Amino acid sequence: MPLPDVIVVGAGIVGAACADACARRGLRVEVLDAHGIGGGATAAGMGHIVVMDDSEAQFALTRYSQQLWQALVRDLPRSVEYTASGTIWVADDDPTTAAEMDEVRRKHAYYAARGVATEILDPRGLAAAEPNLRAPLSGGLLVPGDAVVYPPCAARFLLERNAIKVTLAPPVTNLSSLRAGHVVNAAGAGAGALTPGLPIRPRKGHLVITDRYPGWLHHQLVELGYLKSAHSHDGDSVAFNAQPRATGQILIGSSRQFDAEHTTVDHALLARMLRRAALYMPALPSLSALRVWTGFRAATPDSLPLIGPWSENVLLATGHEGLGITTSLATGELIADHITATPSAIPPEPYLPHRFSNGHALQH
Ligand SMILES: Cc1cc2nc3c(=O)[nH]c(=O)nc-3n(C[C@H](O)[C@H](O)[C@H](O)COP(=O)(O)OP(=O)(O)OC[C@H]3O[C@@H](n4cnc5c(N)ncnc54)[C@H](O)[C@@H]3O)c2cc1C
Repeated sequence: MPLPDVIVVGAGIVGAACADACARRGLRVEVLDAHGIGGGATAAGMGHIVVMDDSEAQFALTRYSQQLWQALVRDLPRSVEYTASGTIWVADDDPTTAAEMDEVRRKHAYYAARGVATEILDPRGLAAAEPNLRAPLSGGLLVPGDAVVYPPCAARFLLERNAIKVTLAPPVTNLSSLRAGHVVNAAGAGAGALTPGLPIRPRKGHLVITDRYPGWLHHQLVELGYLKSAHSHDGDSVAFNAQPRATGQILIGSSRQFDAEHTTVDHALLARMLRRAALYMPALPSLSALRVWTGFRAATPDSLPLIGPWSENVLLATGHEGLGITTSLATGELIADHITATPSAIPPEPYLPHRFSNGHALQH
C-alpha cells in the first residue's frame, strides 16, 4: 500500500475540512481520531457562520469561508440544517450615551466598504424583526448573509463525500510516528499536547438548548459587547448570544473561561449567562431548557488561528477559538494550497504559525 500523502489528526470540523480540501486536489488522505467524527468542540459549538470585523485578517478569513459555505449549500444534506437565518447585532445603549448605535453605524460602514450587505435597524425595526426582545432597545445591525449549521453532521458530510478513510484509534501521542508525506495537526484544543510549545489555551464555554418553540426566534442574536467577552484574556466572561435551530429549539450562550479543565457545568457562571440573556429576552426564563453542556475552544493570544507549516512535514490547523465552524472551509483550502504549492485566494501570512516562533508570543 502506498503511503498516504496526508494524515490529518482530528476529525472535527477543521480536520474534516482539511481532509476534504486535500482529497479534492487528488491527494490520498487519511484521518485519525481518538473519539469519533465531530465529537470535540465541533459537537459543543453553536454552528453560527458569521463574518467578523474585529481585524482585517479575521474579516478576510471569515468572509472567504462564509463564501465557501454559501457555495456548498446546494450539496449539503438536510442533516447539516443549513439555515440562512442572518445575524442581528443588538444595541442596548445606556440612555445617556449612544455608543452601541455608533458601533452599529461603524460596523455598517466597515462591511459596506468590503462588499457585505447589512441593514441598520431602528428600535421599531428591531422589535418587528424579533418580538421577544426587550422593547425598546436602541436598534441593531442585520447581516443577512450569515447562517447556521449543525456542525457534527457537517464534519461527517465533508469526510463522507469523498469516502475519506477515518480510523478511530487510541490518542496519537507522537506525530513523527505517522508515516505520510504531510501530517496535519487538527486536534483542536488537544493540539498543544501533540505539538509542544504551541500558544494554545483551552477556553471553556457553556451552552443551553431549549425545548421546541417554532417561530419564537428568527435570527441569530448577538449583543454588541460580544467581542469584549471574546477578546478578554483574563477572568470569566459572558455575552448574550441566542440562535434559532431548524428544530424550533433555541441555543443560548455564551461563556468564556480560561484555566477550567473539567467539562462539569459551572452553575454560578451558567446562572450569570442566563441572567444576561434574560436581560435581552425577558420571556426566556419561561421556556423549558432541555440540556446544558460545555466545550473547549482552542484560543491563541492574538485571536487568530494557526494555519500552515510548523516543522518538517507537520502542518497546523488549530487555534480557531470561537470561529472554527465558520472558518473551517477556508482553513482546509489554505492547508491544501500549501501542500500543493497553489496560490491562495486570501493572503495566508496572518495565520502562519511562525508568527509565534520569535518567543514573546509563546508566553501566555
Ligand atoms: C460553546 C461554544 C460555542 C461555539 N460556537 C461557535 C459558533 O457559533 N461558530 C463558530 O464558527 N465556532 C463556534 N465555536 C468554535 C468551534 O466549535 C471550534 O472552533 C471548532 O469546532 C474547532 O474544530 P476543530 O476541528 O479544530 O476541533 P474539535 O472539534 O475539538 O476536533 C478535534 C478532534 O481532535 C481529536 N483529537 C484531539 N487530540 C487527539 C489525539 N491526540 N489523537 C487523536 N485525536 C485527537 C478529538 O477527539 C477531536 O475529535 C464554539 C465553541 C464552543 C465551545
